[in-house]
Amino acid sequence: MTEVVLDVSELRAWYGTEGDPVRAVDGVSFEIRAGETLGLVGESGCGKSTLGRSILGLLPEGSATSGEIRYRDRNLLAIAPKEVRSLRGPDLGLIFQEPMTRLDPLVTIERHFMETLKTHEPDMSEREKRTQSLEALAAMGIPPTRFKQYPHEFSGGMRQRIMIALALVLNPKVLVADEPTTALDVIVEGQILGILADLRRNFDTALLLITHNLGIVAEACDRVAVMYAGRIVEQGGARTVFAEPAHPYTRALLDSIISLGTTDLRYIPGAPPSLIDPPPACRFHPRCPNAMAVCASKFPIETRVADGHRTECWLHGPDDEIPPGGDRPLERGEIAIAEEA
Ligand code: SF4
Repeated sequence: MTEVVLDVSELRAWYGTEGDPVRAVDGVSFEIRAGETLGLVGESGCGKSTLGRSILGLLPEGSATSGEIRYRDRNLLAIAPKEVRSLRGPDLGLIFQEPMTRLDPLVTIERHFMETLKTHEPDMSEREKRTQSLEALAAMGIPPTRFKQYPHEFSGGMRQRIMIALALVLNPKVLVADEPTTALDVIVEGQILGILADLRRNFDTALLLITHNLGIVAEACDRVAVMYAGRIVEQGGARTVFAEPAHPYTRALLDSIISLGTTDLRYIPGAPPSLIDPPPACRFHPRCPNAMAVCASKFPIETRVADGHRTECWLHGPDDEIPPGGDRPLERGEIAIAEEA
């Protein structure tokens, strides 16, 4: 077992509004080891990107965080923002979803790299900076002849690879990749996933891969965490969770995967709830085909399903916490009452 490099515990990240806060991340815990890839999945609006950004200290003004994000021996939520900024790049890297909005269109690729290295490696000579930049680009399949070009001169896939090279030039220990292959064709997507796999193999990088694409998780991740309405409702080894999903939401997500052999399109009825006023108790209960009376009245307790496989669902107990009669099926009328509570 390699060392745990990122240990997140009871993390909450809320956005302030004129009314009640948006509880985008509401008490999540997980860890990532060196050289490991954790896939974070769930529908849009479940808090995945907020979780990724909280790790990097990149939440907008007006947001509030609590809990712990422990990177090695430091709690990132307890140290000064200036210190978090200094860790961003050499320790904590981020690959954004849309490279064109992150690369400055008025500045060459060379300038992007030289400025990044100047900020984080002030003692490095110009020659070293150039060599390191060209090596990072070469690892992404971008030839040195393109170094002095502008972002608009590259295709979408190449820009995404440049973004990855920019994140990697500082060799971060933890990399958060937020939908890194969205909007790319499947060939480029395959190349990017290959690059990320090489990265963790060669540099022991701990990777948090945020995606709504379960196919990517199956291909690229060691473990998976399933997020719903601000909570991680199931986590475990990717193979185990795919073979034996414990939570009804995970099962529903897996059932809705489309493949070449799909003849019967399945979807999850309803939509993720408002994170300002989520349903009480189990947040999935208004959409859950297995909901029981207890699900609308008592928050599920995280239980161990197997080694390293945990879920937050009353179907897996603990039985002695379910009140008498709590295991009867939930009536539709009770859901409405629960939603108004
Ligand atoms: Fe469904 Fe109840 Fe499990 Fe929630 S706790 S996922 S409502 S069975």
